[in-house]
Amino acid sequence: MILPEHVRYCVDALEQKGYACYAVGGCVRDSLLGLTPHDYDLCTAAPPEETHRIFAHHTLVLAGEKHGTVGVVTDGGVVEITTFRTEGDYTDSRHPGWVEFVKTVEGDLSRRDFTVNAMAYSPSRGFADPFGGQQDLKNRILRAVGSADARFTEDALRILRGVRFAVRYQMTPESSTLDAMFSHVHLLDNIARERIFDELCKLLPLVTAEDLLRFALVLVQVIPELAPTVGFLQHNPHHLYDVFTHTAHVTAATPADLALRWAALLHDLGKVSAFTLDENGRGHFYGHDKLSAQMADDILLRLKAPNALREEVVFLVAHHMLPLVPDRKLLRRWISKWGIQKIHKLIALQQADFGSKGVVSEGFPFEEILEISRELLAENNCPTLRDLAVNGHDLMALGFSGAEIGTALNQLLSRVLDEELPNEKAALLAAIRRKTE
Ligand code: ATP
Ligand code: MG
Repeated sequence: MILPEHVRYCVDALEQKGYACYAVGGCVRDSLLGLTPHDYDLCTAAPPEETHRIFAHHTLVLAGEKHGTVGVVTDGGVVEITTFRTEGDYTDSRHPGWVEFVKTVEGDLSRRDFTVNAMAYSPSRGFADPFGGQQDLKNRILRAVGSADARFTEDALRILRGVRFAVRYQMTPESSTLDAMFSHVHLLDNIARERIFDELCKLLPLVTAEDLLRFALVLVQVIPELAPTVGFLQHNPHHLYDVFTHTAHVTAATPADLALRWAALLHDLGKVSAFTLDENGRGHFYGHDKLSAQMADDILLRLKAPNALREEVVFLVAHHMLPLVPDRKLLRRWISKWGIQKIHKLIALQQADFGSKGVVSEGFPFEEILEISRELLAENNCPTLRDLAVNGHDLMALGFSGAEIGTALNQLLSRVLDEELPNEKAALLAAIRRKTE
């Protein structure tokens, strides 16, 4: 394993003072997989105040010093250096009640969640791998360190982390680890919503439909509104899958954009309560789009998602049934009203939805719709009220006042979008004059 220069520099500085220092956790795992780690964490025998002293000539991040972590600002970025420690007494499946500094790297590794995350590497001392992480990585096995029951009881977020690692590296949880993940799943209720939301945001862009199905039990624990969709049959010849299986396929089929993935996951939640059966035994879901949007809003509020993401997801869910057609005027209106980004995401969501019904259906002209939207964009030809060649002042000069102004501007925009009028000042003013004369 080769450490970048700025990381090697930190390791060497500690080793020169006689303190063992290792790269640890995710960076070791990712290097062994041949991936480029996104950051490097170090662990050391040096107590935090020693690390502080040794790097005193650097800018330091000391917020975690109490728990043993000193952040050293280097040319290559911040390197977090944590004193070997254990932790324990997780009374609430969340916070360690105490941390205790320990002498050995093995002691430090034993507090970590999974064997593949419990490896350390030092250029002078080699690998520390007391739990067989390298072997498990090679075999793609996700295994809790020590007792799986104890690990997930201490910190239930590890269940969701386990799902993420299994998904990200195509690992299979070893049977007692999987049993413990599932049997302690209710402990996720004790975990702060923000932590759950962050994990889900890391997970969603990575998942396949099979992943969502194999870990459905965990998902429905953190988003209980999904539970009634599992096995919910649609009684419709256009839908072979139950609602959850369909949802899993749609989610995996959208591009790995966070808003799209969330929208896909939540887009059909309202189907369960909107379900009706007609006299021919055929299922319908009238109004499920608006119901799902309301549920998505509630869920994302509860999970403390950022407002911008929540609003984008709610928009996509609420409009996932919008009847898209390859019609230039209609598309122009929508792009003008909502912006091209939202329209493109809506097309992507509908495309994923359409292709995930488990039955072969006739083609839908998504490509044609995209092509028209690209043309409109290239022509820079989807004006909004702000782009209109006349504004409120122009209309006031013509004697308009109050609410009339807005109405007149909207009418003009509408006619421009319908290509009845060019977006030119003289033409727009002439049109409005003609109308009021
Ligand atoms: P990522 O690539 O997502 O950053 P990572 O393995 O680096 O993966 P981090 O959350 O950055 O994950 O944590 C770094 C290391 O700290 C992990 O590899 C693991 O050893 C340990 N760790 C982090 N969170 C926990 C936890 N909740 N329980 C036990 N060990 C943990
Ligand atoms: Mg990390």
